[in-house]
Amino acid sequence: MDKKQAIRQLAEKYDSFYFYDNGMILERIEKLKKNFPDVEFLYSVKCNPHGGVLDTVFGQGFGADAASLNEVKMAAERGVKKDMIYYSAPAKAIRDIEAALDKSVIIADSLGELERIRKLVQGGKFELPVKVGVRINPAFSYDTNEGHANKFGVDEAAALDYMQKMKDDSFISITGIHTHIKSQELDANKLRSYYEKMFALATRCEEALGRQLEYINLGSGIGIPFDEKDVEVDVDWLGAEEAKLMAAFKQTHAGTRVFIESGRYAPGPSGIYVTKVMDKKVSYGKTFVLLKNTLNGFMRPSAAKMMNKYFAEEPAFSWEPMFTGLHSFQFKALEEGGETEKVNLAGNLCTGTDLIAEDIEMPRLEVGDIVYITNAGAYAASFSPMQFSSQERPAQVLWCGGDSFVIE
Ligand SMILES: *Cc1c(COP(=O)(O)O)cnc(C)c1O
Repeated sequence: MDKKQAIRQLAEKYDSFYFYDNGMILERIEKLKKNFPDVEFLYSVKCNPHGGVLDTVFGQGFGADAASLNEVKMAAERGVKKDMIYYSAPAKAIRDIEAALDKSVIIADSLGELERIRKLVQGGKFELPVKVGVRINPAFSYDTNEGHANKFGVDEAAALDYMQKMKDDSFISITGIHTHIKSQELDANKLRSYYEKMFALATRCEEALGRQLEYINLGSGIGIPFDEKDVEVDVDWLGAEEAKLMAAFKQTHAGTRVFIESGRYAPGPSGIYVTKVMDKKVSYGKTFVLLKNTLNGFMRPSAAKMMNKYFAEEPAFSWEPMFTGLHSFQFKALEEGGETEKVNLAGNLCTGTDLIAEDIEMPRLEVGDIVYITNAGAYAASFSPMQFSSQERPAQVLWCGGDSFVIE
């Protein structure tokens, strides 16, 4: 059974579902591992926590970038070791930190959180000092050498002060740093210069601490093509450049681990959202094709459409992962060819915002026909308001080739 046949077969049972291609996920993971042999990768679970996808990704040696206690548990239950699970999120509850401490490495997101952890570990339950990482809001960005006000992390200057002050603390020991200041960068040169700035930041932290760091987490940044005119990041080149920076760093830091986090890169382009035509009508001259579970099942295409009402041109910022660009998703009929017609694509919710495309040319569609949306493998199912109007939720299917599926 090929991919199209697999989709047709699933569509007999489900009116809307996510279809993740395991072979493609594996190929993209391989590409990262091959090009960054000295780096350890962490998978950002929040982008797609499907159990089958987690098994695939962790099975390839990725650790976990966990954004909640539940994500820490998902990774730990799948056998990921503590030193490969990093719990990094703003505004963590202290009880979540307590429950996560034996399963993961905590990345503190504020000075207040660092102090709360210090207090927590004084209770006698933990072996002291407890090792923690700090998320830093650096004094630079991808494009400039200035920091920006941000709800994430600790401003670099304050972090350096704290490290110096607490370097001999008996309760906590800062052993690693984490930074993530941008998602969805497609310019390999900017990623390279970001990595360079990160190695320099690590050195500043080490000066403050008076010792070497055990790990540096460079965060994510590597984007994927969304718009049809986007070009894949040249990871062959980027990996080679990163290896040069790393070789220089490793001369004095043989024991320091370097992590790169990635959510979207492997699963993002490997997933599509499949939905079916439930109804069709003409209203005052416009043809509406009504699909199953659009805004509620896969929110981002509707959100992009709403943005399009405000911005005729591509806005100069990104609101990842809520909004990437005005033309980030392609809408296709599974069965191509034949006559086409101009249609609006809308969904089955009782709100007019449930509209994903206007005046697009599609093959002539009838009730029961299959339509799919691209780029649905990351921040798609996990980033959609599925509870609204208590619709049946889309299934999530990992296709492992032939008739092998993992369905959730
Ligand atoms: C969500 C998230 C990521 C993943 O980003 P991608 O752009 O999907 O690779 C990485 N790091 C942190 C801290 C995140 O919050």
